[in-house]
Amino acid sequence: MSGYEEDFKFKIIVVGDPSVGKTTLIRKYTTGAFQKDYIATLGAQFSKYEEYLEGKKVRLFIWDIAGQETFELMRKKFYKGSSGAIIVFSHAPEELESFDHLEKWLNELKKFCGDIPIALFGNKIDLIDETELFSNEDKDNSDFNVTKFVNEHTIIEYFKTSALTGQGVIEAFQKLVRELYFKVSR
Ligand code: GDP
Ligand code: MG
Repeated sequence: MSGYEEDFKFKIIVVGDPSVGKTTLIRKYTTGAFQKDYIATLGAQFSKYEEYLEGKKVRLFIWDIAGQETFELMRKKFYKGSSGAIIVFSHAPEELESFDHLEKWLNELKKFCGDIPIALFGNKIDLIDETELFSNEDKDNSDFNVTKFVNEHTIIEYFKTSALTGQGVIEAFQKLVRELYFKVSR
């Protein structure tokens, strides 16, 4: 008998518009280092990462859509076998379109993965004044509007993140991993 039956294995896919920070977020979580250069890669890649929950080894395969954001056909394979997903948009003023496209990513996830836990990351929070999101409800990316979106679409939780400063990153990934773990271990 080996002890390996107790291991848990999860595939997590990270989707969202190009350049919102998906690759940097994954890197930040798995290595703790912020990547400054923008490296566009073709074809899906994944990072392997292990952590322990309740003394059990949890193996994570975090898949990076890596350049396939615009090739819908190529993404089918990418989605296969996913336990959970992260949708990323950007709070950077010039990338707010990424918020308008959330519904598209959500629909695609539902279509290819069914009903899996999904977390929403509002990234690049370091580039804006966070208090504005609270006080100005009319903004597309205001706390009010994002929370409304989250409640309407059975997303497990919304996190404001910065892959640059690290704000919220570890907490956000860990929350999703816990959710996946408790779903299968209870
Ligand atoms: P992807 O296309 O979604 O994988 O985006 P990348 O991870 O390649 O990031 C695109 C650019 O945004 C890079 O220049 C990153 O350094 C930068 N970036 C990523 N996350 C953040 C963040 O939280 N804050 C800031 N200021 N820049 C970020
Ligand atoms: Mg990328």
